[in-house]
Amino acid sequence: MRLGGMHEACGVAGAVTPGRQAARPVFFGLFALQHRGQEAAGIASSDGRAAYIHKGLGRVAQVFDEDNLRPLAGELAIGHNRYSTTGATQLRNAQPHLVETVLGPLAVAHNGNLTNARALRRELLEAGIGFSSGSDTEVILRLLALPAEGSEDPWIARIGRLMARAEGAYALVLLTREAIYALRDPWGFRPLVVGELEGGGWAAASESSALATMGARPAFEVEPGSVVRIDREGYRVHEVAAGRPRALCVFEYVYFARPDTVLAGREVHAVRRRLGAELAREAPADADVVVGVPDSATAHALGYAEAAGLPFAEGLIKNRYIGRTFIEPDDALRKTGVRLKYTPLASVLADRRVVLVDDSIVRGNTAGPLVRLLREAGAREVHLRVASPPVRHPCFMGLDMATHDELIAHRLELEAIRAHVGADSLAYLSHAGMLRAVGTRTGLCDACFSGRYPLAVEPAAPEEDALVGEG
Ligand code: SF4
Repeated sequence: MRLGGMHEACGVAGAVTPGRQAARPVFFGLFALQHRGQEAAGIASSDGRAAYIHKGLGRVAQVFDEDNLRPLAGELAIGHNRYSTTGATQLRNAQPHLVETVLGPLAVAHNGNLTNARALRRELLEAGIGFSSGSDTEVILRLLALPAEGSEDPWIARIGRLMARAEGAYALVLLTREAIYALRDPWGFRPLVVGELEGGGWAAASESSALATMGARPAFEVEPGSVVRIDREGYRVHEVAAGRPRALCVFEYVYFARPDTVLAGREVHAVRRRLGAELAREAPADADVVVGVPDSATAHALGYAEAAGLPFAEGLIKNRYIGRTFIEPDDALRKTGVRLKYTPLASVLADRRVVLVDDSIVRGNTAGPLVRLLREAGAREVHLRVASPPVRHPCFMGLDMATHDELIAHRLELEAIRAHVGADSLAYLSHAGMLRAVGTRTGLCDACFSGRYPLAVEPAAPEEDALVGEG
């Protein structure tokens, strides 16, 4: 995560562990998915009789300890790391959301953002159904709590109705009394994978890298529009709403996902190296050294350096522990901006012509201060290279950039952006170069770069601020 930049999508995890406590692997899954959200964390579990829940504000290690993990009893559990796409940090928006239904408890953990949440919420309110939070996840929860007909498993019938009504991005794990369900929207915007746990049982997680931390071997990706029901006996896949064009978020490759995650068969680290290599071919620079913005752009910078035949060096050191705290910096500290997070290494930078590689520029608040940091450490020239195309269009599918005006590349042309950030030169990777690096021209959402949205989107009216998207 970069200061003032784009924030991560949420992380979800679930497990069914016959004979063992499921909340424990889910805790470790959330730990591995911490990069996808740091505002709140929570776990809900079921022992077949009752449901249990604990959630709080902050990182997983701040929210959980042995004393509050132990009471989360049962062989079924789901969990969530939250980064809200809009709205303030509030405990009532922390997930999972848990309600009692006519079929017993139902808990929901959601990664994504419904593009028609307002219309669905209005419809439910008019039907007399109340809401206790501002999150679009509660819209999902209330829809799932309503009885539906049409399948021998009543939850599959309800999920079918949800998939028929909900538009947008939703990778979900659901907890019921007897089973957990892992499902992906018909476009497959956000990733979701299933793995087999050592010692028995099954796990689901936003990213394959989390499965290893949970003690699971990756088994398969949840297909867009399908539901995986997991209980003590095993799993069963239900195709509920196939047939939409696939639209995996390309930003998962560029920035969000962990480098060791595999998405649609492609390792994210390898894709990032190729993004950097494509950028070096398209936008070479007369320079002495290549520096990446840590940690998110390190692989891109390595790829750039390899393809350009230039040395790669760590010119910026990141304070990995700054994260999100509840202690606000005072005004004087806030002015130091990126200095809280990055320190330049003078021995690498002094008197050098530096290529600074970043994965993306969204709002443009970070690049300028980083260029200044490099110059203060003695860099003679700073050539900024961005390993993705200009972000000119907002995302309505779960990322923290919902208006055109927030996006620097929407407001300014290339030369004006270069002047704004104070670099000697600036170049972005082309759209074609990005797709070459990812390795496919189809099956991706690239709307924030291209403006071509895979579904109809309705920009939020400013007065309608009650709904909170779940990164
Ligand atoms: S608009 Fe951009 S960030 Fe949003 S889902 Fe599509 S590719 Fe991802």
